[in-house]
Amino acid sequence: MNDKHKVLIMRCEDYNLERISRIITEGMAELGVKPSGRILLKPNAVLAHPTLFPYAFTRGEFLDGAIAAAKARAENVKEIAVGERSGITIATRFSFKNAGYLKVIKKHKIKVHYFDEVKQVPVPLKKNGSLREQIFIPKPVAECDFLINLPKFKAHPWSRLTLSLKNFIGIQDDRHRLVDHNSSLEFKIADLQEVIQPKFIAVDAITAGQETMLTPTPFQMGAIVMGVNSCAVDTVCCHMVNVNPSDVHHLRYSAERGFGPINLEEIDVLGDFPLAEVQEKTRDYKFLMQRIDDYFNGKGNLTCTVGKFPEAHSPDYCWGGCPGALQEAVHIFRSFYPGVDETMKKVRFVVGKVDEPLDLAEGERVIFAGNCTAWQGKIDGKEVRIESSYKTHKEVDEKKTKTNDMLVKIIQSLWNCFRNRSSRYIHARGCPLSVAEIVNYLSAVGKIKNPNFDSRVLIPVNIAYLKMRFNRFINRFRQ
Ligand code: SF4
Repeated sequence: MNDKHKVLIMRCEDYNLERISRIITEGMAELGVKPSGRILLKPNAVLAHPTLFPYAFTRGEFLDGAIAAAKARAENVKEIAVGERSGITIATRFSFKNAGYLKVIKKHKIKVHYFDEVKQVPVPLKKNGSLREQIFIPKPVAECDFLINLPKFKAHPWSRLTLSLKNFIGIQDDRHRLVDHNSSLEFKIADLQEVIQPKFIAVDAITAGQETMLTPTPFQMGAIVMGVNSCAVDTVCCHMVNVNPSDVHHLRYSAERGFGPINLEEIDVLGDFPLAEVQEKTRDYKFLMQRIDDYFNGKGNLTCTVGKFPEAHSPDYCWGGCPGALQEAVHIFRSFYPGVDETMKKVRFVVGKVDEPLDLAEGERVIFAGNCTAWQGKIDGKEVRIESSYKTHKEVDEKKTKTNDMLVKIIQSLWNCFRNRSSRYIHARGCPLSVAEIVNYLSAVGKIKNPNFDSRVLIPVNIAYLKMRFNRFINRFRQ
């Protein structure tokens, strides 16, 4: 008997709804998938906008096709719903509208769960290697019987790739999402797999994303990848872009904890798009796994000084936190305002424990970024001492997390910038410092326009925010 995991790679050149629906329905049949009970579809809608963030999210047509397939195959259904929490503190409603999900949800007459508006419940973690004893997730995730994971195939500057396993970061609300979102991120992603296992996965690899997660450059991969095990699907996806699966740390940790295979020998790769042909097609697929001191220095007015980091497993770099957030933030500026690298005033971004002098250029201002950052020396002849306030994951209580509310974060960071407007340096605290906060700091210190106040997003983002706050308040009494 063949007990290998099955993963299908199917050709799909465009976002034709009928084709997507047929491919996913047939994929479900081949894998023996029959959704039932409370069915929850989880796309990746980290951020969506037709012109500013066009390739960051699972496309609406893909979600539409997956819902149609789930309906066609389902039995004993109690509920079908779509749920997600967008990224960088923007209300999920904003992304759902821009991704075209609201029309799809209305057309299929199904429910929507905005995870930033619903109750969060603790789930115990028992596996060896877990960061914590419990983790908070939205109630609809805890209650669902059949999770369908619909990730977008993208490169990622923190974790190399975001596929099925990494898509689970989007099941947490802001308050809990940024806990351990530092050099522990890869462990956290493995922890999240203990909460729930998807019973079907379909990866939107029709137009994949390269380099960054929020503003990726498109890559026409022309594929839909399907399976019933996240590790198996992610392993095949790694091979599709010529990556050794062991180099995707959360995949390695998840496999080590018994969530699935990481070796191709344990997987039957099926479908009409041979793996070797995909690998040939993706030979020039681009990643952005580059340290910020290599990536930015010499390319514009932003220079980075990177020191040492507190965790023993990653003393040379913090892959899950502030450095990657800076890359995402700068790419957001570039998406909004091309040429911004030249118009920005000179900024030094300092992160980690730095022991050497900064040797600042004339007029260069400094952002000391993150709680772990420490430095002592002279700026303009005055003694400056930045001290670390970093806490290990054991010292951070997931039950007493601080708010990561969008408006609060904007006000706090802009107030910090205003108070230090005549100083050469500013200390921006956080672990991590989020992408949204870095956008505010860079805008104020580098004297460039702030995308948060751009007319293309200002009103819709804030309408979505107010609706989110209202509904979250109402839901307190409903649940
Ligand atoms: S403060 Fe930033 S760079 Fe330092 S450990 Fe936390 S996330 Fe990493």
